Amino acid sequence: MLIDSHAHLDSERYFGDREAMLARAWAAGVEAVLSIGIGEGPAEMHQALGLCRQFNGRPGFPRLYSSAGIYPHSTTQADDNALAKLDALLAEPEVIACGEIGLDYYHEGAARNVQREGFIRQLEIAAARKRPVLIHCRGSNETTDAWDDLFLVLEEHWRSAGLGGIMHCFGAGWEQAQRSLGLGFLVSFAGNLTYPKAEPLREVAARMPLDGILVETDAPWLAPAPQRGQRNEPAFVAQTAQTLAGLLNISEAEIALATTKNFYRLFNLRP
Ligand SMILES: [Zn+2]
Repeated sequence: MLIDSHAHLDSERYFGDREAMLARAWAAGVEAVLSIGIGEGPAEMHQALGLCRQFNGRPGFPRLYSSAGIYPHSTTQADDNALAKLDALLAEPEVIACGEIGLDYYHEGAARNVQREGFIRQLEIAAARKRPVLIHCRGSNETTDAWDDLFLVLEEHWRSAGLGGIMHCFGAGWEQAQRSLGLGFLVSFAGNLTYPKAEPLREVAARMPLDGILVETDAPWLAPAPQRGQRNEPAFVAQTAQTLAGLLNISEAEIALATTKNFYRLFNLRP
């Protein structure tokens, strides 16, 4: 059984078939999904929790967990109201993580200092609520600028919390992967690992320790190679797991076991 550690199940792209989509995930061997609670902005931060309440306990569906957070581009809306809503959501038992939060210098939907400020305030809330964080980090034009800033912030405002987190949809180099592990983070690989031009990323993945990895879809985006261009969904996480198993020279059963164990360990959950 696999865990999809990052999917936007509340996306409107599942409006017509969310139940069938989740049933397909279960049939494909996905035992749990971490449903990301960022919506299209803070006003929709609660939607992922709503899905947990709708589906959990029903046979034939994966177990759902959720997160809540304010995406880097939405930090212009990270006012006291939004942060109070985040704090209240993180108090709910199903909301096991704060995210996805971080820095995005590629699109820069918010000024860098606004992103940084919103990121730090959310780290403080997550630390107080004892929730690991889900990090989104993307540099401008193939540089590591956002990663350099990210590590400065994490060293100063997060390491001492001792909670770690997940580097979601990892796309940086070996140095960033190692620093992430050193900060107690798991490195999560998404469907882009399967893309033809992702050879540098596959080289990083091939060097990863088994106790430091996760797999995810980032659905509805980033469908793996065979389904590329289509809407992604948690059932397709098996493709990324298969690619990762090949790179690490282990079986698909071993990759499933390792990533599932890592997920439950990080969040202190019992399957
Ligand atoms: Zn995402």
